[in-house]
Amino acid sequence: MKIVYLDNNATTMVAEEAREEMLPYLGRLYGNPSSMHTFGGQVHRKIETAREQVAALINADPEEIIFTSCGTESDNTAVMSAILSRPGRRHIITTRVEHPAVLNFCKTMARRGFRVTFLPVDKLGRLNPDELSEAITDDTAIVSIMYANNESGVIFPVHEITDIVKSRGALFHTDAVQIAGKIQVDVKKLQCDMMSLSGHKMHAAKGVAALYVKRGTRFEPYIIGGHQEAGRRGGTENVASIAGFGKAAELAKGHVDSGSSKMKDLRDRLQQGLLDTCPGARVNGDPLNRIPNTLNISFEYVEGEAILLRLNEYNICASSGSACTSGSLEPSHVLRAMGVPFTAIHGSVRFSLSRYTTEEEIDFVLEKTPPIIKELRALSPYVQEEGEI
Ligand code: PLP
Repeated sequence: MKIVYLDNNATTMVAEEAREEMLPYLGRLYGNPSSMHTFGGQVHRKIETAREQVAALINADPEEIIFTSCGTESDNTAVMSAILSRPGRRHIITTRVEHPAVLNFCKTMARRGFRVTFLPVDKLGRLNPDELSEAITDDTAIVSIMYANNESGVIFPVHEITDIVKSRGALFHTDAVQIAGKIQVDVKKLQCDMMSLSGHKMHAAKGVAALYVKRGTRFEPYIIGGHQEAGRRGGTENVASIAGFGKAAELAKGHVDSGSSKMKDLRDRLQQGLLDTCPGARVNGDPLNRIPNTLNISFEYVEGEAILLRLNEYNICASSGSACTSGSLEPSHVLRAMGVPFTAIHGSVRFSLSRYTTEEEIDFVLEKTPPIIKELRALSPYVQEEGEI
C-alpha cells in the first residue's frame, strides 16, 4: 500500500535530484576534499558549489555558510560560539518552545552557571517581543529564538527581535530548520548573526546541515580539529550529503513560492475538513501566522497515540505531541507552554506536508480520520462521563 507521508517536520524524502547528485561521491569520486591532488580537488569544488547553493537559499554569501552534521550541531555551535567569544557576558535568552537542540543546550549552560531566560508564549504559541525587551540586558551574550516552531508551525517576529537584540549589542541566532525552503528567508534583510538549517528537513539526506554566520561575527568553533570549513568546523566533510544538500537547497529555492502556496491550500483543506467532521477538534497555534505545511490539531478526549496507530493501519504517517510517540515520556513542552489543556495535548496530532503532498493524499486522510476519531471518542471514559457526545 502507498505511504501517505504527513510527517515532514520529522524528516523528508530525499529528492531524486539530490540523490543523483550524491551518488558519484559515494562511488568513484571518493577523494578527500582537503587533498592537494586533482582527484581531491574536484571533490572540494563540489562542496563549494553546494555552499553557493545553500547560501543562495537564504541570500547569504557562500563564505558565511559552515557545513555541519545536523541542525542540532548548528544550534549548539551558535550558542556555544556566542558565549565563548563574549566571555564578559553571562546571560542567554531563548524561549520555552525551542527545539531540544537549543532548549536542552541552554539548560545545560544554566547548570554551568550561565543565567538563562526562557521566554513564554501565549495560547496561540506567539511570542511577545516586549517580553524580550524586558529580559535583555547588557550582560546578554546571545538571544536564540527559532524562526518557526516545529510542532505548532508558528512563525516568530524575527525582524522585530533582531532590532531589539541589536539595540543591546547581543548576538541573535535563529533556528530556521523548519522554515527554510518553505517560505522566503533572507538573512540580508533579517540581519541576524547566525541561522541554523538542516538538510533532512528540505529533501536532502540526514546528517548534513549548515550554520550561517554573518561576515564579521566573532566565532569560536565547536568541533575543533583540522582546517576544514575555513577552520570553523573540524572534520572531513560529509561530501555526498553536502552535494545532495546543495541540490536540495537549489530545488527548494526554485519551488519556494509555488510549493508554499500548494502546501498551504492542501493544509487548509485538511484543517477545514477535520474541523468540520471531527467533534472536539481544535487547531493548536496561531492560525494566521504559521508555516504553510503544518497543522497541529487536537481531538479532545482521544489519545494521540491511538489515533496514530489507527492512521498507521492505512499507512498514514503523522506524529503526536502526547507522551511516548515522540520518543519522550513527557507530553509536548510546546503545547504545555501554550497552555493547551491536558485533554487536548493528549489528543494532539501533527500533520506536516511537503511540496510533494497531493490532493488525493489529503482526501484519503479526510476520508479515514473522522471514523477513527468517532470510534475512539466513543471508547473514551471522559466523553461518556461528561456527556460530550
Ligand atoms: N531545530 C528544529 C526546529 C527542528 O525541528 C529540528 C529537528 O526536528 C532540529 C533543530 C534538529 O535538527 P537535526 O535533526 O538535523 O539535528
